[in-house]
Amino acid sequence: MIRKSIKIKGIVQGVGFRPFVYRLAGELGLAGYVRNTSEGVELEIEGPPRKTVAFLKRLNREKPAASRIDRITVRNVPVRRVQLFIIKESKTARGFTRLSPDIALCPDCRREFYEPRDRRYLYPFINCTNCGPRYSIIENTPYDRLRTAMKKFIMCPECRREFADAGDRRFHAQPDCCSVCGPRFALYTIRGKKIMALDPINKAADLIQRGRIIAVKGIGGFHIACDARNAAAVARLRKFKHRPAKPFAVMTGLKDLHRIATVTAGELEIIAAPVAPVVLLRKKGRSLCSAVAPANPYLGVMLPYAPVHYRLLETVPFLIMTSANVKDEPLIRNDREIRNRLGSIVSHYLTHDRDIENRCDDSVGYVRPDRGFSVIRRARGYAPNPVGLPFSVKPTLAVGPLLKNTFTLAHNDEAYVSPHIGDLDDRMTLEFFREMTARYRRWFRIDPQIIAHDLHPDYLSTRIARSLPGRKVGVQHHCAHVASCMGENRIRGEVIGIAFDGTGYGLDGRIWGGEFFYGGYQGLRRVGHLEYLPLPGGEASIRKPYRIAVGYLCRLFGADAVPGLAPKKEIRAISKMIDAGYNLADTSSVGRLFDCVAGLLGIMPEITYEAEAAINLEYRARAGVSGYYPYEIDGSDELVVRIAGILKGILKDMSKKDTGVISAKFHNTVSCFALDICRRLRKIYDVKRICLSGGVFQNRLLSRLMIRDLTEAGFRVFTHRQLPDNDGCVSYGQTILANAKHGK
Ligand code: ZN
Ligand code: ZN
Ligand code: FE
Repeated sequence: MIRKSIKIKGIVQGVGFRPFVYRLAGELGLAGYVRNTSEGVELEIEGPPRKTVAFLKRLNREKPAASRIDRITVRNVPVRRVQLFIIKESKTARGFTRLSPDIALCPDCRREFYEPRDRRYLYPFINCTNCGPRYSIIENTPYDRLRTAMKKFIMCPECRREFADAGDRRFHAQPDCCSVCGPRFALYTIRGKKIMALDPINKAADLIQRGRIIAVKGIGGFHIACDARNAAAVARLRKFKHRPAKPFAVMTGLKDLHRIATVTAGELEIIAAPVAPVVLLRKKGRSLCSAVAPANPYLGVMLPYAPVHYRLLETVPFLIMTSANVKDEPLIRNDREIRNRLGSIVSHYLTHDRDIENRCDDSVGYVRPDRGFSVIRRARGYAPNPVGLPFSVKPTLAVGPLLKNTFTLAHNDEAYVSPHIGDLDDRMTLEFFREMTARYRRWFRIDPQIIAHDLHPDYLSTRIARSLPGRKVGVQHHCAHVASCMGENRIRGEVIGIAFDGTGYGLDGRIWGGEFFYGGYQGLRRVGHLEYLPLPGGEASIRKPYRIAVGYLCRLFGADAVPGLAPKKEIRAISKMIDAGYNLADTSSVGRLFDCVAGLLGIMPEITYEAEAAINLEYRARAGVSGYYPYEIDGSDELVVRIAGILKGILKDMSKKDTGVISAKFHNTVSCFALDICRRLRKIYDVKRICLSGGVFQNRLLSRLMIRDLTEAGFRVFTHRQLPDNDGCVSYGQTILANAKHGK
């Protein structure tokens, strides 16, 4: 006989890990115990050596789908000569408890949900230790029912029996409930009048099918739902959301998925995973009305993840499910807000009496053929999982950037990157930010000593940072981008960092966004960038890409060289601004270069959502076009890419080639000058590793070209793995650099 002590870190709480261990030990006839600790799960097994080896093998192979083992330590301990295997009560946590994200309905629960003889037949809050709400219902830690939104529901005897039975799939499933004791759905008119219906979900589905737009309470917030085949409903929704063109996410069942999109095996694996994110897939067929994702080859699709979604899809097979909020505000989380804020768009709301403690958007991303899932918005299904750090840090709060904000709370080697918060220039979003930072500090018991923030003096996030106690450390936006990519890849030593981005405050006070860095965590030095060009009227010009084009052309070639991109008067006004140096903002941003080219080609006079012009430029690029436009590189200490040749080449092509060819050649050009710079830097610094970060890399064509070209040239290219390319990664990067400087 031997006895082993096993400690496991990872996502092992709230995911059915202890019942699984209990069953496994039972099958193998091993004695011992298992319990949750503040660090994860701790267990001891006692029995013949052969059986303990089998146990460890199967532990890893058969663990619950939603769990993740990050670290496992095994050591021998003295034999106790006990007979039984027991589940011990959790240790009182002095440290913090690992919390689980929300998990999509599991196959076992789905089967029971549709089994007429099951006592939870069609009960829309069915869940078990392998699935259901987690993050969204947590009030406080340690995670147990009395500290969740389930505390007001007193378990019926049958649920209590399951909850206490270590052999049951619902053993210690905190949100466990049934139609006798648990929450219920109800349907109301927007004025708050309850609709009497035996089956309110079915009634709501009927209304949607008849063209109504309805708010539906889900896991981390409400959705606004309508029939994705109903053009009139979609048009009304677009008007309300001030969203003329930005694609809406569609929810559909697995069996209908192929009717609206082509799905690769890799994409299927992601879309059907317990996270259940929105995945951007190639659009197909004519099942949906074109207004769902106009002028876009991709469609954001998710599968149902809460039981209520399955019920709605029975009647309406393709639902638009867009976050219920007013433009730029955080998610709506209760009925009162629905009535107050959505009165002009929604006719009814389908709600329930389980509170949403923590709002959480649907996560969004796409699958890169060679690199797996690339997340664009990291929220439901991921939060509050920590992201590992490349080195141990002091207790830190990084407040993140102003827009697309996430914050990071970190200590030791773990960074709790918050879910997507939003744009802090909105008052309600700011409140959301304050609430969530307070909760994260309480849950994870981290009292920050270091406060990391952006360098922009006027950003609200910077002002918040200044008001907090602790050592304030400013971190340049693009350095944070690069460090974030380095950190996720656990890189040690030096790299070339490429930050191709929209906007970020530079060390020289100008707007950066096309930067090359060399260095490590101790210091990233800018060694190259796109030449500075003027944005006439500052950042306001971003809405009108042709103004950027006019500005760039005026500076480079003078007003006479500008073709008829705009009324003569407007061109004259801009050229005057350029000549006088009045109301300009200089930028090296690659995002703006894309806007400029889109503006030059007249792709869209005015954009309606971020990066719309650049995105359209990408989608127009024709496949299989080689060739690129001439550019120049000069400078010594800092290499500078000169783009006059690029714009000249495009102007020349415009009379004889279509936009598809020009767009493709332009993409090639960007990859080409990036490679050129990297080759020169390799000669100087003898470095092969390259880290890519910044919103521009969400351009799939460009990132594919750059990864290919750089790899073929012998570089090792690193990209983000768990965090987005966009500003959602910045708070994590701030954490790293602030600690490299001041964490020792
Ligand atoms: Zn389940
Ligand atoms: Zn019950
Ligand atoms: Fe950025």
